[in-house]
Amino acid sequence: MHKLEDNFVCPSCKGRLSQAAEVLSCPGCGKNCRKCRDVWDLRTVLSDSATGWSAEAFDLAYEEYDGGVGFKDRRTYAAGEGIPIVADEYLESEKELVIKNFISDKKPSALLDLGCGSGWFSFEMSECSPGTVIYGIDVSTYRTDLFRKQIMSRNRQDKMASAAANGENLPFPDAFFEVVVMDEVIEHLLEPGRTLKEAMRVLKPGGHLLITTPSRFMTRFWKTAAIVPTFIKRLFKGETLSRQNTARLREQLFSCHKIRRLVEDSGFETEKWKRVIFIPHESYLQFIPIFLLKIMIFIARIIGKIPFLGFLGLHHFIILKKIKQVRA
Ligand SMILES: [Zn+2]
Repeated sequence: MHKLEDNFVCPSCKGRLSQAAEVLSCPGCGKNCRKCRDVWDLRTVLSDSATGWSAEAFDLAYEEYDGGVGFKDRRTYAAGEGIPIVADEYLESEKELVIKNFISDKKPSALLDLGCGSGWFSFEMSECSPGTVIYGIDVSTYRTDLFRKQIMSRNRQDKMASAAANGENLPFPDAFFEVVVMDEVIEHLLEPGRTLKEAMRVLKPGGHLLITTPSRFMTRFWKTAAIVPTFIKRLFKGETLSRQNTARLREQLFSCHKIRRLVEDSGFETEKWKRVIFIPHESYLQFIPIFLLKIMIFIARIIGKIPFLGFLGLHHFIILKKIKQVRA
């Protein structure tokens, strides 16, 4: 029987893989891929000494965040992070809901959730378009394995699959997907530019890449604004004043100029670009009283309708299109 995993190609040379026992091997370049935990490990890069980027750091951080709970859906995750439900609903309405409406409308035959984590958003997208085949890849074997277990327990293995892979070297053939989604991912990548080019490669002509990422300007603003209230709250709660999580994740926030250049270099056509969310970064929402948060969300919705105030947006929301090849 044809399995979704049979569509993986060599992440290095994009050649066909042959499976013998528990090894996927590439006759073209000699690369061998094995399973890590219980997912195929198709990663080509595990760490980078120059930047400190490390796939293992993601695994450690995720295990620590999860605290042994394992798979979490959106609301459980938000609650665990201390994000009030009113704020999470607002964030969702501005980002993930827009993506889900896009998926409901397009009903792609194949979609890649690039940087899928444990796959909670893949399942939400799958509900919007049950016929769509969804692949989720992430550098974390811990999270892709959580995703795999959920796929099995929900009996969705004919429509969904996960694997560990780098965005910079995607294990899929050319022109395989109609949609690629990168929800809060690009800021954590080792080579964002190379990943966009890979997204371009695996998309069919006319296919779409959807990106959300925090903006550098407003993230810095909110971080600065939150220093005093964060310390006061931690003092009252008797917590330590340093950050709780020990594992450090690479996060390279983009200025508007830089992300625009990145997109231009990738060759995509920009269909939509908005920045709208005028509330603090997720990590700081728990320090704001609910009534104040509700006022901020009310103001944010008004700001969202005024284009020249776009710079106040905390997240970029970008829809890119792979233009059909022009005949020579
Ligand atoms: Zn190969």
